Amino acid sequence: MWFKKPDQQTQASQQQHGGLVVSDSFAKDENLDSDFILSVVDDGVVMIDGQGVVQLFNPAAAHITGWPATEAVSLDFQAVLPLIDAKGTKLPPAAHALSQSLRTGKTVRDSDATLMLKNGKSLPISIVASPVIGANGAVRGVVAIFRDMAKEREEEARRSDFISTASHEMRTPIAAIEGYLSLALNPKIAQLDDNARQYLQKASAATQHLGVLFQDLLTSSKAEDGRLVSYPKVVEFGEIVQQSVEEGRFRAKEKGLEVSFVLSSSQGITGGKEIRPLYYTFVDPDRIREVLQNLIDNAIKYTTSGSVTVRLTGDPSIIQVQVQDTGMGIPAEDIPHLFQKFYRVDNSATRTIGGTGLGLYICQKIIELYNGRIWVESELGKGSTFFINLPRLSSQEALQMQQSQASTVSPVAPKG
Ligand code: ADP
Repeated sequence: MWFKKPDQQTQASQQQHGGLVVSDSFAKDENLDSDFILSVVDDGVVMIDGQGVVQLFNPAAAHITGWPATEAVSLDFQAVLPLIDAKGTKLPPAAHALSQSLRTGKTVRDSDATLMLKNGKSLPISIVASPVIGANGAVRGVVAIFRDMAKEREEEARRSDFISTASHEMRTPIAAIEGYLSLALNPKIAQLDDNARQYLQKASAATQHLGVLFQDLLTSSKAEDGRLVSYPKVVEFGEIVQQSVEEGRFRAKEKGLEVSFVLSSSQGITGGKEIRPLYYTFVDPDRIREVLQNLIDNAIKYTTSGSVTVRLTGDPSIIQVQVQDTGMGIPAEDIPHLFQKFYRVDNSATRTIGGTGLGLYICQKIIELYNGRIWVESELGKGSTFFINLPRLSSQEALQMQQSQASTVSPVAPKG
């Protein structure tokens, strides 16, 4: 039994022990105690000691893993709860939620784990591992709760499959409508009166918006279940940022906004000649262009006057891009939600500016693909700065990687 029946009564119908409150009738019933609860819950519960040896294994844990509790108790937890990656390779002990909780003394959650069962099959699970702290403050063990997520993941996959099929199928008719509208709006092909032209221009803008929405839906559903196609290679970031800024400058012209690019020279000036720093990293340049275009487009979209400045800077291990605008800014309470799917700041200005609320979600998914980080700092009414950090490669590492990439491409056989 995990807790003693209380001898002290707190209220007429309740009793308390530790943080646990139970009713009187529960406390009196010898058959209803925490052992009973552990035996009926549907989630697996396992407790390990400081050495990682299983001390408790409830019936659901036995049912999910296939290990009888009598065999599991007194084995190392890695034997009965081995986690594997997508390729079926066992994860190193340090990556296991239970070891992390044991090591750090903190609660560790892993909602995307895969368990290898006793029969060798795999099962998607979620785990929450909480440390058991002794009176001296040391970690004495860990209690972990794990749940069979097979049904949820299947439903998620079905939902995301539906979204991606639907958005893919809908892009074709939308492209046709867009094409016909632009033919109708071409004065060399069709004669229109002013009213008809205005209506068709509005229809064309709405159709383009719909096209972007379906494209974003398709990309976000791919990002969600890890199907985002990425061909990473060694790239020099300065070039990519410069191109994206130039494209942005063109779009900003209509609004009378200036877009500038500032490249910080972290290496300083040598002999009167400035050395242009080279920022190498390992990413898919097309995916990164998508991110930069999104941030620059947002900066232009949510700024009515002033400028947009894109900075590229870094230190030996990090590349940092900053996209700064002098626009409307973002309320502090919206900032934590900004990178969530479909999230848009709700105010009169954003209601009139078209958008899907998917752009920043997609940006974050792409940046995470390359072990980077994206965040924003903003002051309402003054402007916002979006930051991206990515791991930096030294020029030597970049060269080595480029050479090894080149050597894996088989040379073209000479003719004749
Ligand atoms: P969208 O722009 O299509 O609505 P995003 O995911 O790109 O979607 O952005 C989410 C929301 O974040 C926007 O609706 C807007 O409210 C806010 N936002 C993004 N960038 C900026 C910016 N530079 N300045 C002010 N608000 C911004």
